[in-house]
Amino acid sequence: MSSVETMREIYLDNSATTRCFPEVAERMSRIYLEDYGNPSSMHHKGVESEKYVREARRTLAGILKAGERDIVFTSCGTEADNMAILGGAEAACRRGKHLITTQIEHPAVLEAMRHLEKQGYEVTYLPVDGLGLVDPEAVAAAVREDTILVSVMHTNNEIGAVQPVAEIGRRIKEKNPKTLFHVDAVQGFGKAQILPKRMKIDLLSASGHKIHAPKGIGLLYIAPGVRVLPLLYGGGQQGGLRSGTENVAGIAGMALAARMLYKDLEGDNARLAAMRDHLRSGLTEIENVTVNGPAGQENAAPETAAPHILSVTVPGVRAEVLLHALEDRGIYVSSGSACSSNHPHPSDTLQAIGASRDALDSTVRLSLSVMNTEEEMEEAVQAFRDLVPQLRRFTRH
Ligand code: PLP
Repeated sequence: MSSVETMREIYLDNSATTRCFPEVAERMSRIYLEDYGNPSSMHHKGVESEKYVREARRTLAGILKAGERDIVFTSCGTEADNMAILGGAEAACRRGKHLITTQIEHPAVLEAMRHLEKQGYEVTYLPVDGLGLVDPEAVAAAVREDTILVSVMHTNNEIGAVQPVAEIGRRIKEKNPKTLFHVDAVQGFGKAQILPKRMKIDLLSASGHKIHAPKGIGLLYIAPGVRVLPLLYGGGQQGGLRSGTENVAGIAGMALAARMLYKDLEGDNARLAAMRDHLRSGLTEIENVTVNGPAGQENAAPETAAPHILSVTVPGVRAEVLLHALEDRGIYVSSGSACSSNHPHPSDTLQAIGASRDALDSTVRLSLSVMNTEEEMEEAVQAFRDLVPQLRRFTRH
């Protein structure tokens, strides 16, 4: 394979994963090669390593305006989601066996819920509106005396709908203060200011590889006083909540990436949204091309659209064909959700917002990062302008 330097590429699949910030890779390389001690070791190398973990905890807790002890490092967002839902339910099962989520969650949430259903729990799957937004009123109405946990994602990974998380948190607690509120913020962390305490969030998941840190690291925020049982038992690391030697390089890398992203969040988001809007206006000029979710609606409240995700339906062209035609030009996009592509199955999110059968097969996702440029957007639009008519002719026989 050619190196990044020799191959010109326009990477628009940042919701699947991101390229590491060079600074992150450098710090991690130092940890792998020099400061490689086990944080549990009592000698100098262990102490050095422990310092990285402590500093990362401080950085991430600072961003969330949380306590350092509220953060548990996991191996990924999926593990954080599973720990919140399975560990949260197990700890609270004497209070009730009812959980609430939405129809557009990532499989890391939906499959954990289905697992609980098999164990005798009851799960309510709330619908969303045509833009992919959850109604806080409907969440409140579904909360009962025996509801132990509600899980609503911050930013949808397929269409970029940003849920009214603070309002949902408030409504849940008004109805039942004991009900735990979990937020899957894997796509929102690094793009939005998320303050668990203020938003009444008890449990919050994030993942390193979506924010220019490596794969294999994630975190779960657990509010003080909230009980979650561990998924892993062993040496008792991280207060016994998550046994297993800490991924020190990943932890330090995730904290550094987060610090870099939160340095000028507003400026970065404005630039991302401008690039997204450039793509949207260019692509929707092509005959019959439409954009799904709040980013496609002129009158949707701006805060409901993630600055970096654009879901585009191109009738008359199969998403995979378009994906590969773009790839031939060095442009990387995704068809549906890359994270669930191990099980090719029509997108739950697109179905939940009422997309037609044909639209399900003709939708691609373009997802941006701070590493993208305006010039890349123009090139991508031009590639769509060239390819879509050609591919449509081909598809129509
Ligand atoms: N939740 C959401 C919303 C996601 O988009 C993803 C991955 O795409 C995950 C959870 C899973 O995260 P990870 O890949 O770190 O397991």
